[in-house]
Amino acid sequence: MLTARNVTKNYSNLQVLRGVDISVSKGEIVTIVGSSGAGKSTLLHILGTLDSPSGGDISINGVQTSTLQGRRLADFRNRHIGFIFQFHHLLPEFNALENVSIPGYIAGAKKSAVKERAEYLLETLGLKDRMDHRPKELSGGEQQRVAVARALINSPAVIMADEPTGNLDSRNARELHQLFLQLRDQFNQTFIIVTHNEELATLSDRQLVMKDGKIVS
Ligand code: ADP
Ligand code: ADP
Repeated sequence: MLTARNVTKNYSNLQVLRGVDISVSKGEIVTIVGSSGAGKSTLLHILGTLDSPSGGDISINGVQTSTLQGRRLADFRNRHIGFIFQFHHLLPEFNALENVSIPGYIAGAKKSAVKERAEYLLETLGLKDRMDHRPKELSGGEQQRVAVARALINSPAVIMADEPTGNLDSRNARELHQLFLQLRDQFNQTFIIVTHNEELATLSDRQLVMKDGKIVS
């Protein structure tokens, strides 16, 4: 589903990624672990097309992402990649249902179909009674689950998550882990997750350990 071959990234003199190879299958949860500064976030951003590599090839669902630019790149990203970050980045003036729906509207899907799917996802994630709440009216765990629903709205090939539990207490972190496993089992959803959370890394299908810009195990 996703393959990366010999991906490198340099910032002027600094070689942040030194030839990374990855292949991820559909329905797999892959975690990327390693000490701070190893290059994990840089790699995730490049796999997610938020940043471009200095060298190497990445393909997602058979599309060579480096060949995409501008509008086509933004469109590809919105349709095929879901993002979850440490902070939820929900839009404060919109309610949960609207926040989840926005990427669907941007993708040009039919309004009624987007609303129906957003409602279904929020219900699946245990937020049936929270759909018309704005982010500040939700608990931290609920906010992050809304962000998960938003990431799922366009049925992305892969969800990229950067420290998704970094801002949650241990109970909410554990609930989010269970949710990732549920989404894998229920929707065959693929995840690539950068995490310091050992429990999450242990639960994943595969752990990639990064050190000094390379995957070492
Ligand atoms: P990790 O996520 O493993 O902590 P990062 O990918 O954030 O590591 O960073 C890897 C290295 O790249 C660090 O040395 C960091 O300072 C450097 N780096 C990251 N982004 C930039 C940037 N935009 N410009 C220069 N150096 C950067
Ligand atoms: P937690 O125990 O996870 O920290 P909170 O105590 O923040 O949760 O919230 C408990 C419940 O109250 C949540 O389900 C949330 O939706 C609801 N809630 C919290 N703040 C507000 C608010 N300002 N308006 C409406 N509902 C709220």
